[in-house]
Amino acid sequence: MEKIRIGIVGYGNIGRGVEQSIKRNDDMELKAVFTRRDPAGVSIQTEGAVVKHFDDMEAMKNEIDVMILCGGSATDLPVIGPKVAASFNTIDSFDTHARIPEYFASVDKAAKEGGNIGIISVGWDPGMFSLNRLYAESILVQGSTYTFWGKGVSQGHSDAIRRIEGVKNAIQYTVPIESAMEQVRSGSEPTLTTREKHLRECYVVAEEGADKAAIEKAIKTMPNYFDEYDTTVNFISEEELKAHHSKMPHGGFVIRTGETGCEGNKHVIEYSLKLDSNPEFTGSVLVAYARAAYRLSKKGESGARSVFDIAPAMLSQKTPEELRASML
Ligand code: NAP
Repeated sequence: MEKIRIGIVGYGNIGRGVEQSIKRNDDMELKAVFTRRDPAGVSIQTEGAVVKHFDDMEAMKNEIDVMILCGGSATDLPVIGPKVAASFNTIDSFDTHARIPEYFASVDKAAKEGGNIGIISVGWDPGMFSLNRLYAESILVQGSTYTFWGKGVSQGHSDAIRRIEGVKNAIQYTVPIESAMEQVRSGSEPTLTTREKHLRECYVVAEEGADKAAIEKAIKTMPNYFDEYDTTVNFISEEELKAHHSKMPHGGFVIRTGETGCEGNKHVIEYSLKLDSNPEFTGSVLVAYARAAYRLSKKGESGARSVFDIAPAMLSQKTPEELRASML
């Protein structure tokens, strides 16, 4: 079987997760990892694949079918996304929700000019959660949709704590409030404030002699990150942090409740994820969509797409005939 040849651009948590997922998909092979660092300092786990500098990817134009972009959403992808889409088919997990329309437009322009496909914002949120919101709202036209995240590590919030003076290391968990989810599942369509939906749980390693009360206050009052939530702060040792908080779990729930018919029959649609490893799961979604990008490109299509535009059968290793016979 001819394999789909993959390149990974950016080798952080998601990049490593994608590499692991490729190993489990026998219709794909990793050809190269591209990094902005010195390639000599980046070692990967795939025999036969090479590590190259980001600036040297053009030379591999004929050896790679799809580039999976694994840079950060804040500053990496807005630059890397359109740049790579001009020369290669791309997939990325861009997750700055408010900036998706402008990001889509910039990738669309570059991908169309280059005759490539660029599927943006693939992952679980945005990604699988977005699809489930769309399916639920299209079916239960009258109703309300709720998204709860966690329990899981928020990298952004963990980083924000690490920037506080006196903090050596920290990890932050977003925790959905069970009683709020129960209210939602009841179909009462409650109006919930930010504080009523999630808690924030922080585990902090303080520098020796640091003012712990000041650190706790700085966390709990931090605007945009913690001030709108009930937050708990636990001070622990570096060893405890390593032993109990070094994984990257996450997950969450998309719930829609609504009514149909003239008697007001109620319905609940719920999709949930419980992930031991956020990057490995996100990497697996990216790899499935890489298959779709490859197929669309083979059909001669170009331009940007989101998960909303990709037919489900495009993701599967199985043929449409096999899918109809085994899953429909
Ligand atoms: P990360 O580990 O910080 O990696 C981001 C980039 O930083 C890498 O591509 C890498 O680029 C560079 N890097 C990594 N390790 C480095 C090191 N030791 N020294 C210097 N540079 C290093 O971020 P991530 O956890 O992979 O997440 C990437 C993005 O994925 C996030 O920004 C988030 O937006 C997105 N995401 C989306 C979803 C979703 O559901 N849609 C879920 C999870 C994450 P170079 O190799 O070029 O240096």
